Amino acid sequence: MANMKKVFFEESTAAQIKKKTLVETSQITDALELESGQYMIVPEFLPRGFESARKFMKHGFEVKPKRFYSQKQAIYDGRVPVVLREEAFNSLKGHNYCGYSFLPLSKDQRKRKVSLIECLEGARIFAYANQNPGTFIKVKPYADAKRVRIDGAEVVIEVPSRTEGERRIQFKLTSVPIIDSPEKYGISLNIGSDHSCGSKRFNIRYRYSDDKESSGVVNICAHEIAGYLQLIQDEISENKNLIPLQMCQFAIPSQETVNYYLRLENNVLARDESLESRDKLRKLNRAEKEIALWALVEAYGHDRTFYAGRSKDGNVRDYDWDLNQ
Ligand SMILES: [Zn+2]
Repeated sequence: MANMKKVFFEESTAAQIKKKTLVETSQITDALELESGQYMIVPEFLPRGFESARKFMKHGFEVKPKRFYSQKQAIYDGRVPVVLREEAFNSLKGHNYCGYSFLPLSKDQRKRKVSLIECLEGARIFAYANQNPGTFIKVKPYADAKRVRIDGAEVVIEVPSRTEGERRIQFKLTSVPIIDSPEKYGISLNIGSDHSCGSKRFNIRYRYSDDKESSGVVNICAHEIAGYLQLIQDEISENKNLIPLQMCQFAIPSQETVNYYLRLENNVLARDESLESRDKLRKLNRAEKEIALWALVEAYGHDRTFYAGRSKDGNVRDYDWDLNQ
């Protein structure tokens, strides 16, 4: 069958969810308390003023960790990305966000935009590749040149596809922080790649019609995040090198946040009056899932949701992604 997801990435259909036991709840974050055999119904919650989930994901509000406009400024501040995210994630004004973003300090000034969904999906690909025999993520840093100190490393990455029968995905990450130097702050903000896939190309297609801003934005996708997580892993286990982790620009979910995400996919339906069907029920769309993740951050704070402490969560590679958990 075409476009069938591998079992590890499967989610329940609306029909399957409706067979579960309906539970009364008051807000989306109650999904955290659901058991695998239960489900909840929420009113659709795409914010007003956005005609589609796609528009919201492109034009919605972004969370902005403190920005720097020069290398000197970033070094003087001296806080690593996770600490800047902690500050921003703990001062949310509501939860209607489409992601968080940061600005590079290089000639390539396109804003880097990261949605929490892609962070979750990146962690999922990483877990899949490490838990299933015969699959893996290949990471090859080119870091010998002197330039690495100043420009970061180039890392060639190969990740498995989430779709059955599809070829592995190969690309190169650039400006990857791998060496401890004062430049590491700027390097991590400049992270880039030559990768292209559905979730990134999406914007290029609409560049000339309805989205003037898209040419100025680099949307980070799950493949790139999965590759980066593997780099973190490899550098720690092979070289005891913590720099890629320390300078990671991607939010790494806790196991509890993974559980919640699985509930959003498998135990929640939205009531949408615009639907023709009799019960008006559908699964959450991409924008709603993103908003629901920010609602979790708003309710429980950064550290509990997107700071993967090894003692609390174990290794991200070993996370449980079983939807029946
Ligand atoms: Zn991709």
